[in-house]
Amino acid sequence: MSQPVYSSSDLLQNPGVFAAAQPPIRLSVFGNPVAHSRSPGMHNAALQAAGIEAQYVRIQVEPADANQAFKALPGAGFIGTNVTIPFKAEALAACDRVDEPARLMGSVNTVVVEGEQLIGFNTDGPGLVRAIREEFYTDLRDLRVLLLGAGGGAGRGIAVQCALEGCERLVLVNRTLEKARELETLLRPHFSSDRLVGPAERLQVIPWEENALRTQLAQTDIIINATSLGMKRSDPPLLPQSLLTPNLLVYDTVYATGKSRLVEDAEAVGARAANGLSMLLHQGALSFEIWFNQKAPLEAMRAALRPSAA
Ligand code: NAP
Repeated sequence: MSQPVYSSSDLLQNPGVFAAAQPPIRLSVFGNPVAHSRSPGMHNAALQAAGIEAQYVRIQVEPADANQAFKALPGAGFIGTNVTIPFKAEALAACDRVDEPARLMGSVNTVVVEGEQLIGFNTDGPGLVRAIREEFYTDLRDLRVLLLGAGGGAGRGIAVQCALEGCERLVLVNRTLEKARELETLLRPHFSSDRLVGPAERLQVIPWEENALRTQLAQTDIIINATSLGMKRSDPPLLPQSLLTPNLLVYDTVYATGKSRLVEDAEAVGARAANGLSMLLHQGALSFEIWFNQKAPLEAMRAALRPSAA
């Protein structure tokens, strides 16, 4: 946390400062705000463990500078950057090419510099797949998923990943129903086969109402929370505890508060539950693999994310 936070004006007005640093700054996370990001700790541990002479910093980007800041990366000697709120859509627009998942997700969280070109990826969805395997010893594609927050950036990424994996079932829930309906239209072609034996629809949108949730949860293996609810200790509970049952898996993408209220409530009824730290770890490991074309030093990265290392 003691590392300096750079700004988009540094990139635009003084790009030489990055290559001149010791070790040279070749990677970053763009965001606003960005001071809270845990990515530098995780990636600098990875760079050190892999013996790569480079450092990773936070760059606070002003919205008006975003496009130019992306375009300045090659000239400033960067290998790439991660992107966090609110620039993931701008990153997509700034890239010369993006992979198919990023295009469908409508957002890029990992940029690679290739010559003068920027290539975009989104590792959030694939990171979640690895996290689910690690936490619950099962594959996302084999699960019937109920996704809360299917309207925000993370929710859209997870829904697209479920579609690309060919998940057995996906139920989209969002406070603003219209956004979940838009996602349903986008993903409908991916759910056209009748993989599920039984009467339930493979892709469904439901309103955020207790009765509708109760009905769907009877045909759900995993609840994934992709809302921002739970980031503050004072947030109200996401779901009434009476809806949670011991057979459910619960994955809360929120990791800011350690064990979220949702994770605590799920564990209290005997369900298996995990917070989003494992997704953060694995999306970061996938970024490292994209930048360096080598396996990420996962244990060094994991150690850097432990609360004692924050
Ligand atoms: P976002 O684009 O702002 O979306 C926020 C989502 O939360 C929307 O679906 C929004 O619903 C919903 N929401 C907000 N307040 C709500 C409330 N009071 N009740 C019900 N729903 C509410 O944010 P994001 O980028 O998707 O991030 C969402 C969460 O994902 C954050 O907690 C973030 O930490 C987490 N995340 C974790 C990882 C990881 O690696 N673990 C990676 C990415 C994101 P409306 O559409 O109705 O506004």
